[in-house]
Amino acid sequence: MTWSDASLALGQGVLHRSVASGPGEVVAPWSCELVLDASWSGARLAWWDSAWSGEWAPRSGPLASGLVLETTAGRSSARHHPFLVVDDGDRALLLGVAWSGNWRIQVVPGPGGTVVRAGLPDEVRRVLGGDETWTLPGVLVARADEGGVESASAAFVDAARLLLGHQVEPTPAWNHWWPYEDAAISEDVLVANAAVAARHGIGTAVLDAGWFGAPGSGLRWTELRGDWELEDTDRFPGGLARAAAATREAGCAFGLWLEPEAVGAASRLRTTHPELLAVGVQTPETPRPGDGPHADWPAGTEVELGLLCLGDARARDLVVGHVDRLVALTDLRWLKLDLNVDPGLGCTRTDHDHGPHDGLVAHVEGLYAVLDRIRAAHPDVVVETCSSGGMRWDLGIAAHCDVGFASDTDWPEHAAAGFWAASLFFPPERLYGWCDSQWGGSHAHQTFRAEAWDDEPHRLADALAIAMLGRTGVSQRLVDLPPAALDLVGAAMAVHSSSIAPLLPVATVRRHGAQPEREGLGGRWPVVELVGPSSRLLASLPLAGASVPSVRLAGLAAGSVRLEPLFPADARAVVLPVAPDGTCDVSMALPADRCVWFRVTEEVA
Ligand SMILES: [Zn+2]
Repeated sequence: MTWSDASLALGQGVLHRSVASGPGEVVAPWSCELVLDASWSGARLAWWDSAWSGEWAPRSGPLASGLVLETTAGRSSARHHPFLVVDDGDRALLLGVAWSGNWRIQVVPGPGGTVVRAGLPDEVRRVLGGDETWTLPGVLVARADEGGVESASAAFVDAARLLLGHQVEPTPAWNHWWPYEDAAISEDVLVANAAVAARHGIGTAVLDAGWFGAPGSGLRWTELRGDWELEDTDRFPGGLARAAAATREAGCAFGLWLEPEAVGAASRLRTTHPELLAVGVQTPETPRPGDGPHADWPAGTEVELGLLCLGDARARDLVVGHVDRLVALTDLRWLKLDLNVDPGLGCTRTDHDHGPHDGLVAHVEGLYAVLDRIRAAHPDVVVETCSSGGMRWDLGIAAHCDVGFASDTDWPEHAAAGFWAASLFFPPERLYGWCDSQWGGSHAHQTFRAEAWDDEPHRLADALAIAMLGRTGVSQRLVDLPPAALDLVGAAMAVHSSSIAPLLPVATVRRHGAQPEREGLGGRWPVVELVGPSSRLLASLPLAGASVPSVRLAGLAAGSVRLEPLFPADARAVVLPVAPDGTCDVSMALPADRCVWFRVTEEVA
């Protein structure tokens, strides 16, 4: 067994990784090991906890205290996001594990400096044959010696762009999930909303969970996941094919949700392909309650994980076959891939194409292979990864899909908090979120109601402005929104498509102020710049409790700058002088009572 270094220079970043060559048993080493010398001893660490609807919760501590971060749920961002910042004032280092399963980051201070390690957990072992190799997950690192975290982030995101490669660019999308969920969606509802969406600048309508199932069986679709040939003909009497065609006739491309890795408790797949089911050890956090027939079994028990093991080639073929068939049937242009199961430590079967100690690694590698096959066969389809919100969103899966869904919840403060942190590590064109979705049930923060939209005059406009930060969409009852609200949606989507979307893939994101946090915490007035080679946009996003931020634009030509409102268009334009050092303090020019997108235009003296 031999090792070779397969690290890649990516712009100003480095993807650390190594390759093992067989034969022999490999115990996965760290993918990356760095030493920060004693001059960093006063630095601080920043990391982010994650949970359903609790993505990107900031945490920090001194470097000198050390740190162990890990995820054992089997999804990369189910506990923490796989990223770390070392912040030493002018100097900063950003690190991200590009891997969608379990991972570990360790920071160990010592007399000779602080060791930062990242990679797979140490229980991962793999047996390689004589002609086999194994490329370990990559860990992307970028650092800056001046300019602090913002400067290191710009380098990291540039490197991430090189790592992620090609993107099928999405249009703004409508999705029915939150206002209609599965209970109230039907062909009629889909098509009626798609028609309104198309008239207001939304190019795709995505049919989420609810299309699929066995009406009359008494079984909920969640129990039937895996039997993707089933269509709920009660709600879609003409089947998926007619619903897709009618969506197109209404003016939108058709998109579809699928949870191809999951196997429901009553799925026929259990009897037709028992050989493909993942079996593993129940951990305290797997599976989630209700996800499988053994969900309540105690930790330590050997259980089916409620999952197809994509570590096996036959399971991969099955999933690709489902997708190929659904694309042919519906001509879908957007595939929303979900996973509501925690695979835990993964499959331990010995009759799959993996060993007993590398089942999760093989599953993740298999997932990437499936995504690559889907994208190669259907190059016009936008592939979105959504994993019960942002539960599996890392630079590994991002390299095999087009966009990642931010979070199931999206009230404005939460959405702003997520973008602020995620955009430190991900190119903004990969970040996809919705606008203050109308919740079907009750939720403390998701309180927007179409029928009462103007009780809070700026709420919809503010929420749209925040949702426009990356790739954008809405999950609203468009058919119930009054004309003035739809005008706002239409104006937002038009600005997004004409001015924001073209800038995203070439933009550097600059964040001003502290990260906003949920529940009224953190920075209350985030200001985000998108700085491109030839244009610059600025989003001023005051939240409840905001006081005047300190925002100094930099890198400007001598003369003045004009802030021209893009959305909402009736905000006030201002012209401000540029200081001799090429900066311009715009703090006092930003309105406190509403969120506004501005175009920043330099007027050279
Ligand atoms: Zn397996």
